[in-house]
Amino acid sequence: MATPEPPPAGRIDIAELRLAPGDVVVRELQVTAPSYRQSGTTFRTHAEEVAAEVQVAAYDGGYDLSLRVDVELHGPCARCLGDATVPIGITTREIHEPAADDDELRCGFVDARLHLDAAAWLQSAVALEFPQRVLCSDSCTGLCPQCGRQRDDGDCGCVPPETGSRWEKLRELRFDDDAGDAGE
Ligand SMILES: [Zn+2]
Ligand SMILES: [Zn+2]
Repeated sequence: MATPEPPPAGRIDIAELRLAPGDVVVRELQVTAPSYRQSGTTFRTHAEEVAAEVQVAAYDGGYDLSLRVDVELHGPCARCLGDATVPIGITTREIHEPAADDDELRCGFVDARLHLDAAAWLQSAVALEFPQRVLCSDSCTGLCPQCGRQRDDGDCGCVPPETGSRWEKLRELRFDDDAGDAGE
């Protein structure tokens, strides 16, 4: 008689945990690191695998699943193209009731053998959390539009175009407005 194959790395065999309703187990495991493609580049973690914590809580007819992972993805800053880090903390939950008719009650990361694919779950969760735009820092001043040099590296000496002074005036006006509002 063939013994069942162990699930591949990054998966948890929920059936093998043999949980009774009310039982809760927490598993630490290494899963394939997530990546995220944005604006033609792929943001990746430094390591190929990341540590994940999965909790499986059994109840009558199903499982309450939680995933906790902290990752840092790296890629270019959208303003200056320098190295940027995207820290993402994942804490997410799914319900899985194997016999449920309703798709909402069946976790898409659990297969028919009750193997939970934690890596696929993590990848999906990271895609939901990934910022629209990645910056190396909130104060990144980007590249000089004239010479292309990184402004954070110091003054490149370029003279701003004429429109610059108009902007200054506009900012002064807006500042006055803000001050008025704040006094009310
Ligand atoms: Zn930057
Ligand atoms: Zn310049």
